[in-house]
Amino acid sequence: MNYEEMLDSAYEEVEVSEESERFEVLKVMGHHEGVRTVITNFGKVVACLRRKPEHLLKFLSKELGIQGEIRGERLILSRKLSSKNVNAKIEKYARQYVICTKCGKPDTELSEEGGKLFVRCLACGAKNEVHKI
Ligand SMILES: [Zn+2]
Repeated sequence: MNYEEMLDSAYEEVEVSEESERFEVLKVMGHHEGVRTVITNFGKVVACLRRKPEHLLKFLSKELGIQGEIRGERLILSRKLSSKNVNAKIEKYARQYVICTKCGKPDTELSEEGGKLFVRCLACGAKNEVHKI
């Protein structure tokens, strides 16, 4: 696949509405099981962000100081956490790794070049270096 084809296929997956408002991150749903927190719609949240589940989990683990395990659509976290807390971290993730800092659109992808990680915007072409987790 060459670069143009990659762009084309990326665009096809993106549903851009003409009057798209500010990007809203899907809120987590879940419950507590003993001392653990189970996020039941983690797969959907990740799909909304168009990122790899493992990447978001790595971020959450570091931010929240917890361990997590992905089981299908679910994410099991090793501590009792409020959904408010988890949502705030996911929004932070979106601001850092999904939303373009230049145009504010979420139509971006992560690309690794020369050992550095970038958020590349498919809407405006901006490229912004981000911290590797
Ligand atoms: Zn942009």
